[in-house]
Amino acid sequence: MIKSIAKLKTKKQIANFVWEFTFEMFEPKILDFVSGQYISIIVDPKTRRQYSIASSPLSSEREFILCFDAKPNGLGVNHLLKLNIKDEISFIGPIGNFVLPSKPASNLFFIATGTGIAPLRSMIETLIINKSDLKHNIHLHFGTRNINDLFYTDLFDRYLHDGSIKYYKKYLSRESLPETTSGYVTQFIAGLSSEIISDSQYFICGGTEMVKSAKQMLLDKNVSSENIFHEEFY
Ligand SMILES: Cc1cc2nc3c(=O)[nH]c(=O)nc-3n(C[C@H](O)[C@H](O)[C@H](O)COP(=O)(O)OP(=O)(O)OC[C@H]3O[C@@H](n4cnc5c(N)ncnc54)[C@H](O)[C@@H]3O)c2cc1C
Repeated sequence: MIKSIAKLKTKKQIANFVWEFTFEMFEPKILDFVSGQYISIIVDPKTRRQYSIASSPLSSEREFILCFDAKPNGLGVNHLLKLNIKDEISFIGPIGNFVLPSKPASNLFFIATGTGIAPLRSMIETLIINKSDLKHNIHLHFGTRNINDLFYTDLFDRYLHDGSIKYYKKYLSRESLPETTSGYVTQFIAGLSSEIISDSQYFICGGTEMVKSAKQMLLDKNVSSENIFHEEFY
């Protein structure tokens, strides 16, 4: 088991309970990861917690971004929240197979709730930086409970307006507001046409309930399970 060490470089609160931390690699000096992977932070000798890397390795391998929800308020969250700038974390990883396939389809649908956006943000950024991949249509469906829980809005709006992503829809399950859709993030699945489905892949991340429901809805639309990629956080 190889342990890596990184130091906290920046920390900021980006939504009601969501924090974004940037870490700089210390030992080794780079983190050799693939978009979608996570690290397993050593909280104490008996406790580890997993956090997906929200940045792209193509942006930097010396630094990486995590975003986490402070609501669970357990050992993992408190370990992170008590960190000061330059404090160290020890972790195992990168780990995980929730990554972009070697042959992406023409339509790539990214479906996330809450901090489930983290690995998807990394994948989307990698596709955008790899300009050759821009032939793929990126569709992003991102849901939270309330408007104050939403984050990365400026970033994804920018990607939408400069044409890097084709579609970006924000869902609020407990609020009705302009420029957002009220209800669950999965609701668009019912309207997918068979033409789109024939050349699409789906990347789903968030809580188990949403991931299971999205997967079942896609299977009911005759999406092949090999085109559905998912990660469950809790
Ligand atoms: C592969 C993987 C990647 C992950 N990546 C991230 C990430 O990028 N960002 C992130 O915020 N979390 C992520 N998680 C969840 C994270 O590992 C911890 O479970 C979470 O931070 C809670 O840890 P804790 O010790 O503070 O609370 P715990 O005491 O472990 O959990 C308290 C309770 O909260 C539930 N819970 C955990 N996460 C959430 C949540 N987001 N919303 C509501 N309830 C929750 C747990 O199931 C448990 O019932 C990931 C989990 C996995 C398996």
